[in-house]
Amino acid sequence: IERTLSIIKPDATRRNLTGKINAKFEDAGLRIIAQKRIQLTKAQAGVFYAVHKERPFYDELCEFMASEPVVVQVLEGENAITKNREVMGATNPADAAEGTIRAEFAESVGENSVHGSDAPDTAKDEIGFFFSQLEIV
Ligand code: ATP
Ligand code: MG
Repeated sequence: IERTLSIIKPDATRRNLTGKINAKFEDAGLRIIAQKRIQLTKAQAGVFYAVHKERPFYDELCEFMASEPVVVQVLEGENAITKNREVMGATNPADAAEGTIRAEFAESVGENSVHGSDAPDTAKDEIGFFFSQLEIV
């Protein structure tokens, strides 16, 4: 059983899509074992996305992630990291498979509704960034 860190991004919380997105996770067999709504500062978003700091979209990405509240969550299930990324769909919604979250809901490659960890080590770090052990049940 594996865990991954998911973020419902500001474009999706703004459009009241949290429930529809959570239904996609649950329908895929992912269990939401921790969840909270928070608003990041731009500096916090910058730390979270530090891996992208040399990319041209970094500043815009941090601005966007701090623009409105996000819902951060821990998803648990068999192969949760891969399964979550399948349910999310490709980064660019134009390339995302039918039925995926990004195909249905994302507005652009930047404002693409969800984040999901991409490997076991990043999942562990990203879960620890937002949650203490006591909050994960
Ligand atoms: P995430 O890490 O958010 O789950 P991802 O792994 O599919 O998404 P990454 O390559 O890690 O994609 O990019 C991180 C985020 O940066 C993307 O989800 C998107 O919000 C933003 N991003 C990526 N590429 C671009 C781009 N070309 N223009 C604008 N924003 C981008
Ligand atoms: Mg990524």
